[in-house]
Amino acid sequence: MRLSAPGEGPALRRLAAGVRRAAGFVLDSLLPPLCLSCRVPVLAAGAQCPDCARGLNPPGGFLCHRCGVPLGGGLLAERVEGRLLCPGCHAAPPDYGQARAALLYDEGAKPLILALKHGRRTDLARWLARRMAAAAPDLLARAEAVVPVPLHWRRLLARGYNQSGLMAAHLARAAGLPLLPRALRRLRATPPLGARSAAERARVLEGVFAVAPRAVPRIAGRRVLLVDDVLTSGATASACARALLSAGAAGVDVLAAARVPDPRIEALDGGGRA
Ligand SMILES: [Zn+2]
Ligand SMILES: [Zn+2]
Repeated sequence: MRLSAPGEGPALRRLAAGVRRAAGFVLDSLLPPLCLSCRVPVLAAGAQCPDCARGLNPPGGFLCHRCGVPLGGGLLAERVEGRLLCPGCHAAPPDYGQARAALLYDEGAKPLILALKHGRRTDLARWLARRMAAAAPDLLARAEAVVPVPLHWRRLLARGYNQSGLMAAHLARAAGLPLLPRALRRLRATPPLGARSAAERARVLEGVFAVAPRAVPRIAGRRVLLVDDVLTSGATASACARALLSAGAAGVDVLAAARVPDPRIEALDGGGRA
């Protein structure tokens, strides 16, 4: 099995996408710009209407130093060496250094992420990458290479692009960092991890990610910024970080477009954002 073979998909799909892009470009220059989310006309291209902009929430208040989850009222937070940790990171620190996200994965952000992932709205990648860069300037400042969370090659072939790869490319370009789009490989497709326990998630992800042998020299000794679309339990990010660290990375931070709030903290906080 050749894992490196599929690039952007078959030639026909590429051609169709090119025609669609060209048609879109012509239409875009004739029609008023549309809200990125709900597609009502707006004044400037690449913006949202006021209603949609109000619906977006960055992770606010105190954040877990490691995973970046909002700690709400801080009822469950632990203070370790002057830094606040969520219960999960306190019990079992993640393999990455720090994770941050541009948005909470709530009703405002969900349509954007789903449109990027499943609706071929690749134009959203640049916009999300800008917000990601603004959310974590310190992570970008210490990064020495940018690596996206990979899709399994079969999914990449079906979708034609890796949404995390697109955001990673915009981030790397804007920050002037080397982009290593195929440094990580996903050796097996994995089922959705949502309802599984931490132990089950770890079992499902065992041996799923590996650094491509060709990429090892560019990973070794470097601090890597791993780019993901949605941070849920952090299990995927941790598994990717383990693979990068075992290839010699000096450290791994994670930057995601959106993150799911911690259900335990939400419940204590009276959140109900699920
Ligand atoms: Zn809108
Ligand atoms: Zn945490």
